[in-house]
Amino acid sequence: MPVSTEIIDAKGAYLSPGFIDIHVHGSGGADVMDATPQALQTISETLLQTGTTSFLATTMTMSTEAVDKALQNVQKNALSLEGAKIFGVHLEGPFLNPEKHGAQDKRYIKNPDLALIDPYLQEIRMITIAPEMPGAEKFIRHLGMYHPHIILSIGHSDANFEQSKESFGWGISHATHLFNAMNPCHHRKPGIVGAVFDAEVTCDIIADLVHTHPSILKLVHQLKGDKLFLITDAMRAGCMKNGTYDLGGQKVTVEGGKATLADGTLAGSVLKMNEALKNMMQVSAMTRIEAVNAVTKHPARKLGIEAGELKAGYPADMVIFDEDFSIITTIVDGEIKYEG
Ligand SMILES: [Zn+2]
Repeated sequence: MPVSTEIIDAKGAYLSPGFIDIHVHGSGGADVMDATPQALQTISETLLQTGTTSFLATTMTMSTEAVDKALQNVQKNALSLEGAKIFGVHLEGPFLNPEKHGAQDKRYIKNPDLALIDPYLQEIRMITIAPEMPGAEKFIRHLGMYHPHIILSIGHSDANFEQSKESFGWGISHATHLFNAMNPCHHRKPGIVGAVFDAEVTCDIIADLVHTHPSILKLVHQLKGDKLFLITDAMRAGCMKNGTYDLGGQKVTVEGGKATLADGTLAGSVLKMNEALKNMMQVSAMTRIEAVNAVTKHPARKLGIEAGELKAGYPADMVIFDEDFSIITTIVDGEIKYEG
C-alpha cells in the first residue's frame, strides 16, 4: 500500500462510484445560465451533498447570446472546479417543439441549426431535440455521423410514434425525461413513449414522485431495465429552501418539493440524486445495485466516458451512503470533498 494512502472506515455503509447527473441546470442558488465561474463553482460544490461527482451542465432555451455565454463559461471554467466535475454540456433546446416547451421559453425556440453549436462541439455531450421540426433530420444525421460523442435525445417534442421510430434510425438514441414535455401514450397513438418502449433506445426520468406517478416509475423500470437512467433536472433551488427563484428568465415558485411556473407548469425540480435512488427503490422493483448503476455505469457508458465504475484506471470518484441513501462521504479524484 502506498505510504500516502488514507484508510476510511465506512462502518458498514455502502460504497459506490460517484453519481453522474446528465441533466441538471443548477443548485445551491446558482444556474448554468448565470454564465459565471462562481455559478459553476456553487453548483459543483452543492451537488456533492447529493452524492453526485460529475454532471452535464444543462442549458435552457434562452437567447442565442445567453446560451453562447453559458457555453463559453463552461469552456473556460469546467476544468477548475473544486467539487463535482463537469463532463460536458447538455443542450436542452433551443431546438424544441414550441407546442411542448414545458418551462422553456417559447420565444427562443429555433429550428435545428448546426451553425449555432459549431463552436462548442467539443463541450456538448448531449442535445435534447424535437425530431419533427424542420431541418432536424439533416442535423441529427450530421451529428450522428461526424460527432458521435454527442447523445441525441428526443424531448420537448410532439413527434408521433412513426416519426419517433424514424428518428431513432437517423441517430436519436435516448429520450429526455420520458413522459414529461411530450405527447402522452394513448393505446391507438402510442407517441414518443410507445416508441421508446418499442425500441432499444435509453431514456431517463425524474424520480421525484412529482413529475410522474409512482406506478409509471415502476412500469418504466419493468420495460426499460438497464436502459433507464435517473436524472434530477434540478434548477437553482436544488438543495435550497422554499421560495421564489428564476429558471431561464421565468419566475418559479418552490414549495413542498415542487417547482412551478405561475400557470402551474412544472419547472425543473428540486430533486436530489440520492433521493431519486431512494424513491426508485421504494416504488419499483429496482434493486440497490440497479439504482446505483442507473446513475453511474450506464450513463457513463452511454457517454463513452471511462468513469462510473470502481476499477483500475478509472477516476476515484466515490460516494459512501447509508441504507436510506443519506450521503456520508463524497470523494472526487481520490479526495474527500464532502462529509454529511
Ligand atoms: Zn431540464
